[in-house]
Amino acid sequence: MKIVMLGAPGAGKGTQAIKIADKYGIPHVSTGDIFRANIKGGTELGKKAKSYIDKGELVPDEVTIGMLLDRIAEEDCKDGYVLDGFPRTIPQAESLTKALAEKGEKLDYAIDIEVPDDNIVKRMSGRRACPKCGATYHIVYAAPKVPNVCDNCGSELIIRSDDKPETVQDRLSVYHKQTEPLIAYYKEEGILRTVDGTQDLPKVFEDVVKILG
Ligand code: ADP
Ligand code: AMP
Repeated sequence: MKIVMLGAPGAGKGTQAIKIADKYGIPHVSTGDIFRANIKGGTELGKKAKSYIDKGELVPDEVTIGMLLDRIAEEDCKDGYVLDGFPRTIPQAESLTKALAEKGEKLDYAIDIEVPDDNIVKRMSGRRACPKCGATYHIVYAAPKVPNVCDNCGSELIIRSDDKPETVQDRLSVYHKQTEPLIAYYKEEGILRTVDGTQDLPKVFEDVVKILG
């Protein structure tokens, strides 16, 4: 099963992707997580990505596409994956389609989680992330058992530096300009499915499972 998650930043792609990965036994591949791990590790890739991420801009396609294609060529991805945060531009989507077609493969579903912008801003202000394992929480909607401590690994939670309200606005406008056209792209491919992301977390997942079967 090869799945792409679509939706604005903060729509709940990561939250749902982790649950999909768990239920269907496929890896969760988040380009944002890969960039953050590289920033933390001080790699060349991390240095390149950081300035874009901090401004709420997209990391250039030349960097991102190769990185993602390398990741999904790894052994654990041979039976499928759920992509979270990729593709974010039409050239990224086209490169993925082409790379898969070269191996006689294709994506199964593009799941678009729809959430209006004003709702997104509320979600992002309450998001907390685990810097170690990548788990995501919300101070009201998905609170950890112990305040500010990751349920999975016990690390102290952080506020992502790109979740500042002014950066969130920039990320939303980047989304509408560069990423939203992917909805039409995957509709044309016949694999687009839409979920109402304003519902509570378990209900969104229920709808996703109805799609995936
Ligand atoms: P994305 O990966 O699309 O950027 P996240 O999965 O990190 O988004 O979700 C953004 C924030 O919204 C997180 O704090 C998360 O806990 C919260 N969240 C996700 N889904 C829902 C939902 N259905 N209802 C309320 N809050 C949600
Ligand atoms: P995310 O964790 O998906 O919210 O991504 C955080 C940031 O990483 C984004 O705002 C971008 O700056 C960068 N990023 C993640 N995925 C991509 C991508 N596919 N293309 C370009 N930039 C990306």
